[in-house]
Amino acid sequence: MHNLSPEERTQIQLERLQSTLNRAYRNVPFHQNRKNRKGEAIDIERFQIESIKDLSNLPFMERKHLGEYYPYGLFAVPLRDIVRIHTASGTTLNPTVSGYTRHDLLVWQEMVSTALTASKITAHDILQINLDPGLANWGRDYKDGAESIEASVIPNTHLSIEKQLKVLKDYKTSVLITTPASASQLAGHIGSGTDLNPADLNLKTLILVGEPAGLEPRNLLEEQLHATTWLHYGLSEVPGPAIAFECENHKGLHVNEDNFIPEIVDIETGELLPEGETGELILTALTTRAFPLIRFKTGDRARFIQDTCSCGCPFKRIEWFEERTDDMLLINGVKVHQKLILLHIEDALGFVPGRYCFFKSQQGETSCLEVWITVDDTLFSDEIKALEKLMKTVEDKLHENIGVPVSIRLKEKHSFQNHC
Ligand SMILES: [Zn+2]
Repeated sequence: MHNLSPEERTQIQLERLQSTLNRAYRNVPFHQNRKNRKGEAIDIERFQIESIKDLSNLPFMERKHLGEYYPYGLFAVPLRDIVRIHTASGTTLNPTVSGYTRHDLLVWQEMVSTALTASKITAHDILQINLDPGLANWGRDYKDGAESIEASVIPNTHLSIEKQLKVLKDYKTSVLITTPASASQLAGHIGSGTDLNPADLNLKTLILVGEPAGLEPRNLLEEQLHATTWLHYGLSEVPGPAIAFECENHKGLHVNEDNFIPEIVDIETGELLPEGETGELILTALTTRAFPLIRFKTGDRARFIQDTCSCGCPFKRIEWFEERTDDMLLINGVKVHQKLILLHIEDALGFVPGRYCFFKSQQGETSCLEVWITVDDTLFSDEIKALEKLMKTVEDKLHENIGVPVSIRLKEKHSFQNHC
């Protein structure tokens, strides 16, 4: 759609939006029973969107809705049309389940290839994907997108840092797709005692996904790995990566407006903000058939960059900030909801711990979720031992459910003062 005039592009967006809303309201009870932002019931027979601006009259979709309609309640097509089902941890004990039709997967492949092409990746590149199991679906999408531009792909496999580096060097990888945290670990490992010199690597491009990365850490990574960094934005639960991407100017991320409408709203009131102000990023999918996201609250903090980009890409740009609008923790690109952690612990213990806190920590080469919970000072040592054993089970269960390693520590109350 790059050769279209702005008016033609807006018209196509509007038609896609109308078609998506129509499909969602006709096929998904969740959308049928919703009210508009004024609290009035939406009559699907009369409901019309006459301009993109009308979108702001619609209610938001939130992460909690994805769990409430587990597993297939938000699908807008029959199951026979679904070719891939993806599961991710959500905000309740039920995971979020998203589905893709064959058409959806092709759209996604095209979106990823658009983003990779903007990052100057070509058929001559050797592309290595290194993402945590919690971002496994992104690994598949990047593989498909990169193969479609005929790059040579080393698919996502869980490897130790030593093996990743061996592949990076021996296979002459020119593009690495990973999270900022994993890239830092890799760079740190090269700098600490290995005989590997970054100048001996063929790496030229580092695609950073899953978490925003500030200028300073990016400069450091570029210096350490002798590569240029490019930031991509996506949703780890639904539906995938490369929704927004950097161009050669590296000044914000272009949102793929052929497939998504971005809005920035006030975090407190939900009202649209004037262009350029920082708020919550809201996304509406235009081309997704199986799993329509309509005004989805991403929890990501962003602002629109107002001036046009000299790269020629017509898509709007956003600046993406590290701080979130909700209480989710980002661990290696995987979003972890604090309420969910508490639900799992409560489920295992049968009660809510008196005091608890969660934070991201580093265990050797791995980023993990560290959970501290209080133990009663009056517990006997054999009771504490039994509790520790139970916590190991909870750690494994949490790891399985949220896709990142978990370490639970039993602490006495006074330990919390300096940390939580
Ligand atoms: Zn640009």
